[in-house]
Amino acid sequence: MTHGTIGHPVYRDMPTTIFEHMSARARETGAINLGQGFPEGPGPRVVLEAAADALLTRSSQYPPMAGLPELREAVAAHYARHQGLDLTAPEVIVTSGATEAIAATLLALVQPGDEVLMLAPLYDAYLPLVERAGGVARVVRLTPPDWRIDRTMLEAAVSPRTRFLLMNNPVNPTGAVMRADELALIAEVCVTHDLIAICDEVWEHVTFDGVAHRPLMALPGMRDRTVKIGSAGKIFSVTGWKVGWMCAAPPIATLLARAHQFLTFTTPPNLQWAVAQGLGFADDWFVEQRAGYQASRDRLARGLRAAGYHVLPGGATWFLSIDLPASGIALNDMDFCERIITEAGVAAIPVSAFYPHDPVTHLVRLCFCKSDAVLDEAVARLAAFRQGAVAMPGEGR
Ligand code: GLN
Repeated sequence: MTHGTIGHPVYRDMPTTIFEHMSARARETGAINLGQGFPEGPGPRVVLEAAADALLTRSSQYPPMAGLPELREAVAAHYARHQGLDLTAPEVIVTSGATEAIAATLLALVQPGDEVLMLAPLYDAYLPLVERAGGVARVVRLTPPDWRIDRTMLEAAVSPRTRFLLMNNPVNPTGAVMRADELALIAEVCVTHDLIAICDEVWEHVTFDGVAHRPLMALPGMRDRTVKIGSAGKIFSVTGWKVGWMCAAPPIATLLARAHQFLTFTTPPNLQWAVAQGLGFADDWFVEQRAGYQASRDRLARGLRAAGYHVLPGGATWFLSIDLPASGIALNDMDFCERIITEAGVAAIPVSAFYPHDPVTHLVRLCFCKSDAVLDEAVARLAAFRQGAVAMPGEGR
């Protein structure tokens, strides 16, 4: 090798994502996979049929770079109807998934040395994307059980070089929905310090207990300084489609489109047609999806509690977390996840994977968007595991 060390430092020592790692382990071992978040079935029939129909009857050639006009219109109309936003179609750029939208946004906007404020636990893609874009992460560490955000911690993390806030609401992995006062505080900090907010709202439709999603973009002063990111994969339970979008006021949207055009350029047109159609479904459809996931959340929580696990409250997303010490289990989250995959045949995600430093190590995330039979079997296996683990405290520590 004559080129010295190869690879960008951001990637050199990076492990494969925890989601990929756990799914691969689940495939190898045949474990029930409650790790990586994806629904068990193929997706709703009506959505799949729309995509199949578009594949056969519409073009499969390059759609416009910023997305099919019909989908851009549909996203704007959907957010007007469901969230009271006044976005126009030119403010919507279609991407190949929300992860591409986050990458395009950071590549388009971050200049070397710009600081990006983030809240941990944070989705694992955020930090490497920020750093690869030349940004410097400023991470505010939130802790269970209520993951509360307060003014002092936000203000302490902001410096004159801070230009962006990158956040997720509702939050993966905690299942928390940010409260109105927390959002107001975030908006106020963004306005005061002239920050652009990059708001990953992929879980916007997966909220429970009658709580409606509040987009950060709707808060005072935020309309023109927010990039709102969404995902059809989450809204329509088709995570492999990788159809997402980013919405922002025209001067920002223009830059985002420039970054997107040299990342993926376009997104499969039949999937765009299907998503455009789906976004126009009647309200009942979205209510029903939500009710189904809420029932699954409740079933998993009930089963785990009956088995002696301490389950943290979760008001959104496809995930619940269990607290190991409060469940009488003397293992950290990584060891617990390794043990249950081999000994109980259940894969899960350690919450420490969502912290770039000073991780919270006593929580484990479980994905509940599975059939009742699979959830019940996973609970039975975890119940048996807990009986053994509690009987032998300290073992494996
Ligand atoms: N969003 C998914 C999760 O949190 C993971 C997606 C991925 O594997 N990249 O489980």
